[in-house]
Order: sequence, then structure tokens, then C-alpha cells
Amino acid sequence: MHSADRRQSADEQSRKKGGARGPSAGSAYPAPVERLIVELGRLPGIGRRSAERLAFHLLKASTDEAMALSGAIADLKRSVRHCSVCFNLTDTDPCAICGDTRRDRSKMLVVEQPKDLIAIEQTGMYRGLYHVLMGRLSPLDGVEPEDLTISALLSRVDDALKNAGGEPIGEVILGLNPTLEGDGTAMYLHDELAGRGVAVTRLARGLPTGGALEYANKAVLADAIEGRQSMQ
Ligand SMILES: [Zn+2]
Repeated sequence: MHSADRRQSADEQSRKKGGARGPSAGSAYPAPVERLIVELGRLPGIGRRSAERLAFHLLKASTDEAMALSGAIADLKRSVRHCSVCFNLTDTDPCAICGDTRRDRSKMLVVEQPKDLIAIEQTGMYRGLYHVLMGRLSPLDGVEPEDLTISALLSRVDDALKNAGGEPIGEVILGLNPTLEGDGTAMYLHDELAGRGVAVTRLARGLPTGGALEYANKAVLADAIEGRQSMQ
């Protein structure tokens, strides 16, 4: 099953559950307030009590303020998509990085998530392109190669026309998180890339094991890019 489908069915399940203890199940709130509390409560790190607090904040806020929030959410879902080349989040296609002719388009740095890309961009140390996998391999959780953007990655390596600017890739830099699953994904990609005529390197091991790229400090990340090592 595709991961998006799994998410969809998980959403449906939680919606059903939410519905069961919705207004009809004895909520003291008017239905629109209860609905907002339920929706806010789906956000990561927001429990029922926080959701109530946010809902009451929005009730007290001016109409303009509340509509600015709902407008920002609507705009986000309308205009932000994944770059068709590298899968970075973007409101243009290709994204600003793939479209930048001053960047070195022969280099591709592979990361798990868009937020890893942002962490690396903030170091200012890397001027090549990226490829966002949209996750990492995790056989135990049922995340298989076809659930990630690996086939698009290999297409970019095999066919220069699939890469930004039609330029051939010369080096693939694996920038996965230093976790068991990140390492497993790096090994899988290394094996897939063997014999395709590209150099495969990985970020230097300055990153703490088990840590996450997005939380590494700039200097450590910059060293990891500078000191990247060839994978044998
Ligand atoms: Zn892109």
C-alpha cells in the first residue's frame, strides 16, 4: 500500500473517532466551536486542552486576524507543492534551487525531508542541487523503495534531461540522518547507484549518531559537507 493511502485511512479512522465524541456525544460547546477544537487537536503536539485554548483565542480575535490564519492555510494548500525535479517544497516549478543557473547542477545532495534541505541551505556551504526522498526506508513500518522518490532520483542520474538544466549528475552526496534507518537507506542507494557512472559520497561523520540533520548546528553541518567521504 502506498504511504499516502495509509495516511488517508489513518485520517479517516481518527475522523470517525473524533466524530464519535463530537457534539452529539455530549460536548458542551456549540457545534462550530467543537469542530474547530477537534481540527486543532489533530495538529502534532496539540492536546485537547491546548486546542480549546487556541479555539477560544480565535473566538476572541478580530475577524481579520482569524481570516488571516484560515487564508494562510488555504493558500498553503493551494500554492505549495513538490518540485517536479527534486521534490523540495516550492510555489514555483521547478523550485528556486533547481531553477538557479549559478548552482552546480552536476552535484545532487540526497536528504530525507525538506527541512533537512533547509538546514543545509542555511549553512551557505553547499551550491549544488538536492533530491528529497520524502522519508527513509523502514521495512518494519512497511516503507519500501517505491514509497520514496528513489525511482525519480535514479532517472535524474541516468538521464541528464531529467535533471535541472539538462546537466548530467557527476556526484551524488548522501545526506541521510545518522540513524539505523538512515544508514540502511544510504546503503540501499549506494548499491543502486553502483555502476551508473557517478561518484557516491556521504556527509562526514561529525553528526552525532542517532541525531537529526535538522537540529545539527551550522558549523557541524558545514564540516560534514566539506569533509564528505567517498563510499566504497
Ligand atoms: Zn527543485
